[in-house]
Amino acid sequence: MLPLSDFGSQGAPIHYKAWVCSSPGCGFNIKIRNGDVYLNEPIANGSMHTPRVR
Ligand SMILES: [Zn+2]
Repeated sequence: MLPLSDFGSQGAPIHYKAWVCSSPGCGFNIKIRNGDVYLNEPIANGSMHTPRVR
């Protein structure tokens, strides 16, 4: 799993907001948003990967 960071609405960095599997093609991810944890949401960004259709 690789830690990912994000930027808040004020531009402040949010460290380790999400964790994504380090295996290419796996795409399993965990995110924290507004205090809730989301498991394995579809990845909809990045030019190298095609989002999964669910
Ligand atoms: Zn994985």
